[in-house]
Amino acid sequence: MARYTEAVCRLCRRENEKLFLKGTRCYTGKCASTRRSYVPGQHGQGRKKVSEYGTQLREKQKTKRFYGLLENQFHNTFLTASRLKGKSGENLLRLLELRMDNIVYRMGLASSRAESRQLVTHGHFTVNGKKVDIPSIKLKAGDVIAVRERSRTSSKFRDMPERPIPQWLTLDREALKGTIVQVPARGDVDLEVREHLIVELYSK
Ligand code: SF4
Repeated sequence: MARYTEAVCRLCRRENEKLFLKGTRCYTGKCASTRRSYVPGQHGQGRKKVSEYGTQLREKQKTKRFYGLLENQFHNTFLTASRLKGKSGENLLRLLELRMDNIVYRMGLASSRAESRQLVTHGHFTVNGKKVDIPSIKLKAGDVIAVRERSRTSSKFRDMPERPIPQWLTLDREALKGTIVQVPARGDVDLEVREHLIVELYSK
């Protein structure tokens, strides 16, 4: 699967927001977004006026980068969201939250979405008792996600630092097993984004 391989802190600085792409480093004073809170590049400290298109583009880029998707994957998710009942923007965020890689990260079983994707691809998890190694798979309320039996003794999971877990998920840290209690509502998504601008951008 294609993925972004450049310096990820640059992406946070470009969006002028912490996107938590680097695991534990994001919570320390070493965070590049905190230390240099201006847009990278020659004109980074001088850019001011942003067009309507530019504002819509930034909201889309920020969301895409937050969830670690490339353009095609993100656009396809939007197309799926726009075919569902309800507001396309909220549907989009819900679909992104329900990706397997995001759920594993949200449950605190990986330090970043990038790491989560790698762990899922390497076959460390089951969903409802069956091995799942596709990070983009969409899960649903009631699904039970667990670290596979043979991976449970790994220090990777045993020593994972604790992070707060959203109220729509549960995790039994001892059993390394969690459940999606309910589908997340818009208020459960902690990314500050004006999703209607993404809808406007893709509707042009
Ligand atoms: Fe972004 Fe984390 Fe890098 Fe800070 S440390 S700039 S939050 S990826």
